[in-house]
Amino acid sequence: MQNDAPHILLINPWIHDFAAYDFWAKPIGLLTIASILRMHGYQVSYIDCLDRFHPKMSHPGNVDRFGKGHYLKRQIPKPEKLYDVPRNYSRYGIPERLVRKTIEESPRPEVVLITSLMTYWYPGVIALIEIVRHMLPWVPVVLGGIYPTLCHDHAVRHAGADYVLSGESEAAVIELVDRLTAFGGEQRFIPDDLDTHPYPAFDLQSFIPYVPILTGRGCPFDCAYCASRFLNPKLRRRSPEHVVEEIAYWHEKHSVLDFAFYDDALLIDADSHIIPILEGVLARGLEVRFHTPNALHIRPLSREVARLMFRAGFKTIRLGLEMAFFDDREGMDSKVGPGEFQQAVDYLKGACFKEEAIGAYLLHGLPGQDLSELEASVKMVKSCGVRPILAQYSPIPHTALWPEAVRASRYDLVSDPIFHNNSIFPCQKEPFSWERVGYFKLLAQG
Ligand code: SF4
Repeated sequence: MQNDAPHILLINPWIHDFAAYDFWAKPIGLLTIASILRMHGYQVSYIDCLDRFHPKMSHPGNVDRFGKGHYLKRQIPKPEKLYDVPRNYSRYGIPERLVRKTIEESPRPEVVLITSLMTYWYPGVIALIEIVRHMLPWVPVVLGGIYPTLCHDHAVRHAGADYVLSGESEAAVIELVDRLTAFGGEQRFIPDDLDTHPYPAFDLQSFIPYVPILTGRGCPFDCAYCASRFLNPKLRRRSPEHVVEEIAYWHEKHSVLDFAFYDDALLIDADSHIIPILEGVLARGLEVRFHTPNALHIRPLSREVARLMFRAGFKTIRLGLEMAFFDDREGMDSKVGPGEFQQAVDYLKGACFKEEAIGAYLLHGLPGQDLSELEASVKMVKSCGVRPILAQYSPIPHTALWPEAVRASRYDLVSDPIFHNNSIFPCQKEPFSWERVGYFKLLAQG
């Protein structure tokens, strides 16, 4: 790398929300772009506003089992439009003075790249962009990630960035940064060939408590409540060898033990994908732990896959059940049928997984949801000896369920993404109620 190469600053913004917890979440897209920029000769630096281990924080971040943990948080005023929600609202992440100090101490950038995740977290993104604009008034700010992909017009109008990118944007970012800096040269990766992408630059973090892994992008299903198809229209995979090399790299060079798969379709075409990946992990003798916070498909979970998962070190298994009834489900999804959940659980238990390792997600707060059906779903999951995990539904633009969500909501979902927040159960006509939430939480736990 040339010493006079342009310097690019990448920032992962705060979360503003009623609740947040670090479930092995890292901005894989932004950190992949950081690696691609390095590959093209740029100098990069990175500020993680969600850093639980920032070296200048007076208390080190807490670490739960397997590397997860609480973010630092500070209560802030609720957005005006959510004044009626009887919950505290917070900024999750490091204090603003640390963000400012870190920007001050970083080499002066020629471009600032900021990512984003949930649409309703945009207030944290806007707050960060305001600070960057104030401190680096002449530096172009580029915003990407899920929020501008799903709510492009809102992001263009409100975020305050100079450039707003939607969708997968590795190639677009490099092109834009090359243009803004008059640097760069030949493209050294093939956007559609994931094996040509470098590993995300987790080494830029102050500490690597775990590594989230994506072995591919996209999903062959198109569930009514999910934006996977919109975000990644095609299913594309890395080769099993490339994935195993990455796991070995972080484990051997950075002593990482915990790996969280964030794929939408990890088990699909198991014979050519997850089976060789896990065989590769075992052949290399990698003593690591795996987690699947993003839920696994139930149908392809065969006896062989379950056994391999156990031998390879899976510790946290989440199954994407969503609802435990199968009549009248066609408008929602087709990924799991009657009998398949019980069979998958039997395979997992037969492979020696304990009950506490297995959880099944159930959607709570769907438009028009019959709560007696949710109650029956929770009881059915428990009767299989599996932990029901209530996943609060967030309405997502560009999904098949969106129009129904808009009709069912007591808020104007179209006018402001702040109302997409799943913590407030936006698709129910009745106001948020702790009693109802508490009842289902107890039912799931008890
Ligand atoms: S199977 Fe999962 S990832 Fe795929 S579309 Fe459905 S919910 Fe989304």
